[in-house]
Amino acid sequence: MDGILLQTVEGLGDAPLVRTGGEIWEWLQGEKEEVAHELLWEGPLCQAGVSGVQEAEASEENEREIEWRHRGRLEARLREINDAQDRLLDGAYGRCADCGAEIGGKRLAADPAVSLCITCQRNTEVDAVCCTM
Ligand SMILES: [Zn+2]
Repeated sequence: MDGILLQTVEGLGDAPLVRTGGEIWEWLQGEKEEVAHELLWEGPLCQAGVSGVQEAEASEENEREIEWRHRGRLEARLREINDAQDRLLDGAYGRCADCGAEIGGKRLAADPAVSLCITCQRNTEVDAVCCTM
């Protein structure tokens, strides 16, 4: 598992940002457990709110929406991490899932679960804005 990528990239050898495959895997695993834990923890909290003290309907609805959005983000994050681990296993890690370009070492260091290069990431962000308009 160790050293399947990045280490071979010349010029990055002295950068402290470079991680081995095993380290990336462990980081992803830790992150996954954290997110999964948060998701589990949110479940019962949700139900307690329903049977608990009744608040004004509007604010309760608002709260639920925020909660759902938060949950959605956590689930999306979980998928992202799983995908990154899949790519790590099949040797596609470090490459953009969209265009196949190499993802920068700094970008991967900041978030080892990223699946898109900076260009494609920007494109999806633009799309997302368009969709919500
Ligand atoms: Zn790309």
